[in-house]
Amino acid sequence: MWNNALRNPAPPSPIAPLAIDSETEKTVQPKAKDGEEHDGRIHWVRVIPFFAMQLACLGVIWVGWSWVAVAVAALLYFVRMFAVTGFYHRYFSHKTFKTSRLMQFVLGMWGTSAVQRGPLWWAAHHRAHHNHSDEETDVHSPHQHSFLWSHMLWITTRENYRTNLNAVPDLSKFPELRLLDKYDFMMPTLLGVAMLGLGMLLNYLFPELGTSGPQMLIWGFFISTTVLFHATCTINSLSHLFGNKRFRTKDQSRNNVWLAFLTLGEGWHNNHHYYPASARQGFYWYEIDITYYMLWLMARVGLIWELKPVAARIYVKAEEFRKERSEGKEL
Ligand SMILES: [Zn+2]
Ligand SMILES: [Zn+2]
Repeated sequence: MWNNALRNPAPPSPIAPLAIDSETEKTVQPKAKDGEEHDGRIHWVRVIPFFAMQLACLGVIWVGWSWVAVAVAALLYFVRMFAVTGFYHRYFSHKTFKTSRLMQFVLGMWGTSAVQRGPLWWAAHHRAHHNHSDEETDVHSPHQHSFLWSHMLWITTRENYRTNLNAVPDLSKFPELRLLDKYDFMMPTLLGVAMLGLGMLLNYLFPELGTSGPQMLIWGFFISTTVLFHATCTINSLSHLFGNKRFRTKDQSRNNVWLAFLTLGEGWHNNHHYYPASARQGFYWYEIDITYYMLWLMARVGLIWELKPVAARIYVKAEEFRKERSEGKEL
């Protein structure tokens, strides 16, 4: 099966060249053609495990809790949120730094452990969000759809299940990334099995910790993944509703300190919509951006390089907008 996929990768045809808008440095995705098929039917095969994962959290009623299980869940939340924000978002979607081809694969694999599908699918959807933010075709927009749809239900349709390879030609040219996208369930399955094994091992070696295989599976996999999923989704939903605007953008993106904590720096969403080319989203020292600090550390040890800074002209614009706000003008 694996060999077949390598030899006969899904033909990404026809792939439009990736365009970069010179003014905003945003990647520009070709617009959907008139009459292009829209398929709003629910993809039940994928939706059932999606809801089952969330329902499985109720298993906590039977397995209880222990400090070690909660700590593992929190740790896995942290390392996988970093994979989503640092790699799926700031690398695969926006190319805000560079790395080797091998490391790119490692980052992609790390990302799939977050159970948010593969890097091509994630980046294609995210680029579409930037190109049509809060417009009619933006599936993430709470201004165009119901809150629940923008937050999570958009994921349930067949149309949104597909990976739009036209939006990610720079990524889909790598067969190993297409493979990760195709077998996006591999890392989550391994993680689930590893959690079960870890709980059983700890129960055997250190019974005083009060954990077990099923308990570690519920906390380390199901609860951690569900919280991670909803926290990520707040950037689609809540961060286009609550917070402040530093920059004038055509969308409703906001900067929100609480969401920045929850998502390791993604809450500076208005900054990011105005200037997505930068590796950092907290543009000032007081805008805590843990993802950026971790990326900076990775660059220091040589795993990644050329982290793109915030261009000087962006700070000039921020000052102009600050003056406008102080004069009472709406952004
Ligand atoms: Zn947004
Ligand atoms: Zn983005």
